[in-house]
Amino acid sequence: MTTGNRETNIRRVIDMEDRISRCRRCPSLLQCVRKPSMGKGELDPEMIMVFESESAFVRDIDRIIKLRNLIKNEFKLQRLYHTFMVRCQPKACTIRQNFSDYGDTRFLDKEHNCLLNNQKCQGIPIRSNNEEILACLPFLIEELEILKPHYLILFGERVGNFVLKSFGYFEPVKLGQIYKNDGMQFMVAPVEEDFQADDCHKLLPLVVS
Ligand code: SF4
Repeated sequence: MTTGNRETNIRRVIDMEDRISRCRRCPSLLQCVRKPSMGKGELDPEMIMVFESESAFVRDIDRIIKLRNLIKNEFKLQRLYHTFMVRCQPKACTIRQNFSDYGDTRFLDKEHNCLLNNQKCQGIPIRSNNEEILACLPFLIEELEILKPHYLILFGERVGNFVLKSFGYFEPVKLGQIYKNDGMQFMVAPVEEDFQADDCHKLLPLVVS
């Protein structure tokens, strides 16, 4: 990638992240999110890893480094980037449910204490619903359009189904399959907690270099 392209990518990603930070499409999620999750890694990636949303796995720096190293070694790649289909992780919280009239007021402080009871957030991460995925998916599609990776790993069938529908694949996806579109190869893999070297070995023969 030329320096000019890289600088353009950086500018476009910063602009997109600014819009994500200001996004208010899902008011109920914003109450318990300090800031939306952003992509991380090389801005001229060979591969993008797409997670459904931030999870305990992705927040664990040792596990994410181990996963990245496994993929780098198996696929013989250097430049990786990871990102999310949904930027604001939904949480179940009985305290907040009793304050449902507060619109998109944010209840978390910088230390992740809940302003409603001045204690550490006790919300339990849950999966995003389809409406939240559809609201957030355009950011991911924009990110892919900016970074144009050669390879993508979509972690979990749900991520595979939503992302690939955006690229015109309307049949249910299959784990361990590769779907090609516009110079990109989308690999559908198990969710990150279950992903193993064996999954790379199944995908590798299908990859076109
Ligand atoms: S989940 Fe995505 S679409 Fe919904 S408020 Fe957060 S950034 Fe916006």
